[in-house]
Amino acid sequence: MAQLDAENVGLVFMKPVFVKKIWGGRKLATEFGYTIPDGNVGECWAISAHPAGDCAIEGGPFEGLHLDELWAARRDLFGNCLGDRGKFPLLIKILDTHESLSVQVHPGDVYAAEHENGSLGKKECWYIVHADPGSQIIIGQHAKNADEFRKMVEAGDWDRLLNKIPVKTGDFFAVNPGTIHALCGGCLAIETQQSSDITYRVYDYDRVQPDGTKRELHIEQACDVVDFSQVPPTSGEVTAPEVDGVTELMRCDKFVVDRIRVKEAKSVDQKWPFMCVSVYGGEGLVKVLGKEYPLKKGSHFLALSDAGTMEFSGELSMITSHLPE
Ligand code: ZN
Repeated sequence: MAQLDAENVGLVFMKPVFVKKIWGGRKLATEFGYTIPDGNVGECWAISAHPAGDCAIEGGPFEGLHLDELWAARRDLFGNCLGDRGKFPLLIKILDTHESLSVQVHPGDVYAAEHENGSLGKKECWYIVHADPGSQIIIGQHAKNADEFRKMVEAGDWDRLLNKIPVKTGDFFAVNPGTIHALCGGCLAIETQQSSDITYRVYDYDRVQPDGTKRELHIEQACDVVDFSQVPPTSGEVTAPEVDGVTELMRCDKFVVDRIRVKEAKSVDQKWPFMCVSVYGGEGLVKVLGKEYPLKKGSHFLALSDAGTMEFSGELSMITSHLPE
């Protein structure tokens, strides 16, 4: 039984939820060491309170509760954060793209609220943990308006429409609502996003699912939400400086995402309502409130508002996120 009134909790570890995808592979088992279902597994929902994949808490006083239940019952441990329209606001995934994802676009909050039953919009970003040599990514598009976009989609003029650029290990991409995008085959990425599952699919390579059907396309919604004023990026190279192991990858109105690398030891102050931490390389320990927790590639935890200083040791590469000030 979970002890709902527990104090001095500090950290809660997550048991990921795995999702099969037409484009997925086996690297979540072979590279991250997870026990995953048979078949093509594309997504690890690593820190999530979303109803489509609400993570169970592993170990500690809240063992067995789902994150959404803890969020509902103990908002004090999240700094009494209001969330995004009441919901736990962030969703962290690992993606294994054995093949290309569908070319897609997500709506912003306003469009999603109006057209998707009050859902949140979806801003997301990717840190590329690994990219096979020669891998590519689609991010942005070249049509000037919805008419031109629709014509190029109908003609299947993908080479001219889509902005396809090379991707390498260590790259980072911000994907704002209204940005046409797709990770292509050969990548492992950590995705930090708003807690939303609304995707408008523009092109799915005419793929057929095991049941013989094709996945639905949403061209009209895509025409509504594509931001035609965006200038597509030419590279995902991280140019921000690394200061004492910390590199700020993105800061926006929804989240702040950092990469933290520990060489031997490092302290990190948890001064936010909560912080999401995902280990994507190395192994070591974290000491919080006098307790020590082993960490390895594939560990994911939430540092709660009472965590204080986190003392990391070992050799660790991590992606962290928290809400902006
Ligand atoms: Zn997406």
